[in-house]
Amino acid sequence: MKKYNIGIDLGGTKVLCALVEKETNKILFLVKKKTKKEKGNKKVFSKLTEAIDELFEISKIDKNEISSIGIAIAGQVDRENGILINACNLQCKNLNLKKQIEEIYNIKTYIANDVEAATIAELLLGAAKGYKNTLCVFVGTGIGSCLVIDGKIYHGATGLAGELGHVIVDLNGRSCNCGAVGCLEAYASRSAIESRIQGAIKKGRNSIITEFCDSQNISTKHIKKSLDAHDEVVSQYVNEAIEYLSGGLASAINFFNPELVVLGGGLIQGINEIYLKTIRLTKNKALSTVSNKTEFKKAQLEDYSGVVGASLIEEYRLCKK
Ligand SMILES: [Zn+2]
Repeated sequence: MKKYNIGIDLGGTKVLCALVEKETNKILFLVKKKTKKEKGNKKVFSKLTEAIDELFEISKIDKNEISSIGIAIAGQVDRENGILINACNLQCKNLNLKKQIEEIYNIKTYIANDVEAATIAELLLGAAKGYKNTLCVFVGTGIGSCLVIDGKIYHGATGLAGELGHVIVDLNGRSCNCGAVGCLEAYASRSAIESRIQGAIKKGRNSIITEFCDSQNISTKHIKKSLDAHDEVVSQYVNEAIEYLSGGLASAINFFNPELVVLGGGLIQGINEIYLKTIRLTKNKALSTVSNKTEFKKAQLEDYSGVVGASLIEEYRLCKK
């Protein structure tokens, strides 16, 4: 039996490419490359093969020992045909990744959306293991989510089910990246918190966060440090985001009645008090008959859920067929 898989996490700023041992799901070798400047099909594809080639070089693994290559992408994908349909932050469109990668390496290749890959990782190895009906929500730059029904990821009619980030929470609200108005993502993501803090600083309010960073580059770490220092501005906008997030989650729970809600993503993983308060408020806001029976857990795969999840796409797709 082939002992290894390659898992690749292709994001807007970096590509992570890992050799994962199938039996243990351990990452044995990892290659990291920046994709900040490489945009468009051609450049992104050559960055990807560069990373795979380097992984073969450093690990000295024979191609015949690799069972599959799995690629998780922040964008819209055609799972069946292995085509990257659209990834805005990579400026890629209609890229036939499966066909091109298989032609070069002669290894079976699978692709998935990044949220789907992270959910596969939680489902097979992490917090959602053993549960049938789960809602996974990842809060970071945006809000991604995935529904698991009867142990299987539910994709909907055109593969887009589970877009909790684009549930409308304010009819006359803020503009969202998707083009709509009032989406949850525009209120409860890290980017939303960031722009609220920036707006307050522009208006002349003082915040300790300006001592930690340039206000144009606010990260989860800076938000955490400011919360720890009881900064009024940062606390206000983090609390505002939690109110919206818990409202969105309560609606999703009322609608879907899952056994389990898994919360992950940079903002949840990085700041435990956001995680805890979100759960508390969600339980208060949801119908008690529903929320009393809902468990909450933090995602367990953390930073490498993308590569590990990608390495598991083959196993997931074969066993859920
Ligand atoms: Zn939206």
